[in-house]
Amino acid sequence: MNRKKTERNFHLMVDATPTALLLIDSNRTISYVNRFAANLLMYSNEQLIGKDLAYFVSKKDLDRLAELFKKRTQNAAVSDIDDKGLDVLAFKGNGEGIQLTIKLNNIESKRTDLILATLVDNTDWQRVIEEFRLLIDAAPNAMILVNDTGIIELVNKQAEVLFGYNRRELLGVQMEVLLPQSVRGGHMKLRQSFNEKPQFRAMGEGRDLFALRKDGMEIPIEIGLNPIYRDKKKFVLASIIDITARKSNEEAFKKYTRAIEHKNQELEQFTFIASHDLREPLNSISGLIELILEENNHEFSESVITKLGFITQSAYRMRDLINGLLDYARLGKNSQLENVDFNEILNSVIHDLDSAIKTSESIVTIDLQPHLPAYEMEIRLLFQNLISNSIKYRRENIPARIHISTLEKEACWEFAIKDNGIGISLEYKDKIFMLFQRLHARNRYGGIGIGLAHCKKIVELHNGSIWVDSEIDSGSTFYFSIPK
Ligand code: ADP
Repeated sequence: MNRKKTERNFHLMVDATPTALLLIDSNRTISYVNRFAANLLMYSNEQLIGKDLAYFVSKKDLDRLAELFKKRTQNAAVSDIDDKGLDVLAFKGNGEGIQLTIKLNNIESKRTDLILATLVDNTDWQRVIEEFRLLIDAAPNAMILVNDTGIIELVNKQAEVLFGYNRRELLGVQMEVLLPQSVRGGHMKLRQSFNEKPQFRAMGEGRDLFALRKDGMEIPIEIGLNPIYRDKKKFVLASIIDITARKSNEEAFKKYTRAIEHKNQELEQFTFIASHDLREPLNSISGLIELILEENNHEFSESVITKLGFITQSAYRMRDLINGLLDYARLGKNSQLENVDFNEILNSVIHDLDSAIKTSESIVTIDLQPHLPAYEMEIRLLFQNLISNSIKYRRENIPARIHISTLEKEACWEFAIKDNGIGISLEYKDKIFMLFQRLHARNRYGGIGIGLAHCKKIVELHNGSIWVDSEIDSGSTFYFSIPK
């Protein structure tokens, strides 16, 4: 092949290359345009040749382009390939805008008089970026897109608000400016290791994370990281939530819980001490009255004896109240959760109540019960209270029929103790679970009104709840739930 032919072939080849190429002289004039470039820019070769490289570039990007060109003509190392390029807005021959990445490379080492410009149409990518920007702007969280060297490429409105910077101050900046000084170094290493194995994850699990605002304030945050790939470039989209309010709520809640625990302990101690101390004088009262009656029985009138009898009864009642209170305070104390067989417990409770069941001619039936982690002693007391109430509050001349059933629900087990007794007016459905609250005269049904308060405390010890459904003269069903 002769030289001429080779040259012609070479020309044809460059012209047919599906990449937009321009040759630029040292004075920035275009000396050659391949077919692809002419088509892309919608100018003819004649229109472009002899024109300044900036001919089709928008004004706003001219300075940056000039700077890049200067760099190329000052340092002509071919190996220093410009593979990042410069993103510019250009205008085509028909006036339409086009987003271009212009790459400038020296065509030969040490030669600064000829630069090869490659143009890549970025319009689609820019459109994607624009759509992405709109999307993340609409997101409720602060979001930051960081490239693989930690440079901030995109921020949304919420990020501007959260960090107190405006967008221009953040774009192109190393993202570590948003971190407290003390963690910046460590963070760069973490970022590199994330880049080596990027996957979606929450950041700083188990650690408290802080961000640094422009005003120097450090704020507690939570971050989700999402790797994004585009054109062989790696980005990380960080979604950031300011958790200041949550943290302070948590703190307030912790403080509140501590205060309640403290108060509870105080109250428990008070109940213990008061109950113990109150029992003493009560025992003396009833003991002394017994003694007086024994020794001086013949000296007292009938009426005095009756009154002294009342005092003794009141003292006994007071003793029962105090004992009930003590038991209430003791519930759950020193108990251990164990796997409890509810069948066994129920059978043994029914066995214990045998004489009450028989004398009242009651019938108690039970469905198959589960095995659950629970406080055994307390569960026994719970069933004992509920079943004996059903026996106690039966209708006159109608033997109690009591059925205990269990329902497995998604999050809990639900127990039901159903009777056919006198029922409760539902206006009292909450009151009956309070300490010493009763609905009947003592002479009609005995009791001190603490059984259901015990039940409530026991169920709550198991993080469950207790409630009643009832109809007067028809019966009541007491329900309680135990979470799984
Ligand atoms: P007590 O039985 O000592 O009064 P409880 O705390 O066990 O105390 O019950 C509180 C009140 O709830 C009772 O006074 C009674 O009016 C009502 N109650 C409890 N269980 C039943 C029931 N199975 N049927 C009707 N009323 C009931």
